[in-house]
Amino acid sequence: MSEATKLFVEDARAVSIEAAAKILNLKFKRTGVEHPQPCPHCGGTDTFAFNTSKKKWNCRAGGIGGNDAIGMAAHCEGLDVRRRDGLLEACSIVLGRDIPEEGERESEEDRHARKMRLEERRLQNEAAFAERAASQDEFRERERQKARGIYQSLAALCKAPQMHGRFYLRHRCGGYPDATWLRVGADVTYWHGQDERGSPAALYSGPAMVAPFIMPDLVPIGCHITWIDLDRPPKFRPDLVDPTTGELLPAKKMRGSKKGGLIPIAGHPQCSRWVGGEGIENGVAFGVWEGWREDTFYFAAGDLGNLAGPADPSSRFAHPALKKPDAKGVPRPVMIAGPVPKADQDTDDAMWVADHVGELVLLADGDSELVMTAAAMARARARHARRGRLIPIVWPREGYDFSSMAAAAVAGDL
Ligand SMILES: [Zn+2]
Repeated sequence: MSEATKLFVEDARAVSIEAAAKILNLKFKRTGVEHPQPCPHCGGTDTFAFNTSKKKWNCRAGGIGGNDAIGMAAHCEGLDVRRRDGLLEACSIVLGRDIPEEGERESEEDRHARKMRLEERRLQNEAAFAERAASQDEFRERERQKARGIYQSLAALCKAPQMHGRFYLRHRCGGYPDATWLRVGADVTYWHGQDERGSPAALYSGPAMVAPFIMPDLVPIGCHITWIDLDRPPKFRPDLVDPTTGELLPAKKMRGSKKGGLIPIAGHPQCSRWVGGEGIENGVAFGVWEGWREDTFYFAAGDLGNLAGPADPSSRFAHPALKKPDAKGVPRPVMIAGPVPKADQDTDDAMWVADHVGELVLLADGDSELVMTAAAMARARARHARRGRLIPIVWPREGYDFSSMAAAAVAGDL
């Protein structure tokens, strides 16, 4: 290799991953340092990614990666860096200048053939990607439609001829809201597994409380279903068993999407005070306890993840007491998702809270693991914090959640 060629390669080695990504026309996410995308060479959905902070790139489809711009350019452009002409061509791409005269270039013919292969591959990738995206969108939209269909066909729980919903909430929570968000159905199907023809199988059908997941435009994107069996105190939920595995199934289900949405219980999102936690029952119990305040919107997030959003990995910490055995049987502390929200979150990584909300009362779940719940509640507070907004976190009596406190009060035990 001549001096000029060596210098040329050295210059190319100095090019950063970020600079090369721009030259290669790779996609940058608006925020963050990790930039996933389809591999320009192998296709796929998020098979390829480069990281501008770690200065690394990786292709899961090709099983290859590294920390240099030359390798990344070579993979994206289908060049073999083990061959001298491939290496020099990759250097030429990241530097944006021609290979020095005495260097070995790929022949015009080879270059043409390579460009053709790449163009063909790019078109295939694009078509495959568009098809996948369309079918995913279609599937999600169909699920949302079904969820809307289930919800919109039902009567409001507070005044339906069906008394199951009112009975359930009175026994679980001490009362029910005089609002039309929560609905009730006499005969809601519980789909589970598949029948012999591969179609969804109906495992059970019966009375259920159905709540929507809504977005800021108040349009439902999904629904939350709780099946009710009045003959089974104290939880009043049917005993659902998987016929093949004998496994006990949850009597609650979500259909459509929930991510970023919330379940309205009483009042209107226009209220400046919002009160809610994970589950519907706790929100209802708290609303009953404080007399359904006029200035308040009562809600549920559906689950802790949707309430608090994802944690920053660096805030993970070891549980002070809980341990579980690792692969070698050695007890290790259980790791807990920390109180700091992950940076660069998407808006739908957790439920929405309207900008005008001045007081957001978060209801903690007292019968879940304490340290994990406390970290998640702190994370929820940090995520939803705004200048001038109060976010008190309310805890139930030890060993209870708000609905079990209400049930105990109804029964005269508290
Ligand atoms: Zn690849």
